[in-house]
Amino acid sequence: MSFTPVLLPEILQAIAAVIESNAEEVTALDQAIGDGDHVFNLQRGLNALLPLAETLAQMEWSAAWQKIGMTMMSTVGGASGSLYGTLFLAMSKAATSQPATLAGFAEIFNASVEAVKHRGKAELGEKTMLDVFIPVAQCLRQTAEDGTALAKALEQVNQVALAGMESTRDMLATKGRGSFLDERSRGHIDAGAKTGQLMISAIIAVLLKHL
Ligand code: ADP
Ligand code: MG
Repeated sequence: MSFTPVLLPEILQAIAAVIESNAEEVTALDQAIGDGDHVFNLQRGLNALLPLAETLAQMEWSAAWQKIGMTMMSTVGGASGSLYGTLFLAMSKAATSQPATLAGFAEIFNASVEAVKHRGKAELGEKTMLDVFIPVAQCLRQTAEDGTALAKALEQVNQVALAGMESTRDMLATKGRGSFLDERSRGHIDAGAKTGQLMISAIIAVLLKHL
């Protein structure tokens, strides 16, 4: 994509704020079926990214996503660190061959979600962040195909992310730490699905403000 990520500083601030204001709830979710460190992991990554925000804003998308991916890979830790690292490095790679349109972004995000599925050997319905990312990727592609106006497309993506997050509540965890609990993993929303949805909603709110 050829234009610069000028909104990244505002987006990173919005993400940090939404993770902070939901920290207790998400930590409780990760304590219920994981080890309770998910918020700390993400905040370690965000604290490394925030000082880079102005530099990232000057870069091309592909370079910015590469820097974000490498920073997350080396700071976040846990399962989510390598998965977010994979997501952004794959976005960086795909960005070099896609235009700066909704359709182009849809292809970039779809390719990246495929990379995360491959990295974590997980699919839809396994009670992970992918239960948010996979439907979001499909929705992006659908709205691009339908020629949906950007504001409406973003609102649809927001709804799909919320539904995906909610869908993890009754799922059986078959990947990640939740899988150790087997049937007892049911009844709790997955922490990574929750933060994925919160971050997507925060990004969409910033984008809608600037449309
Ligand atoms: P850890 O589980 O190593 O403590 P985190 O707590 O930071 O790492 O992240 C846990 C989240 O990572 C889970 O809630 C889930 O959404 C996601 N996750 C774990 N394993 C996988 C996987 N194989 N594929 C996709 N997402 C996964
Ligand atoms: Mg954890």
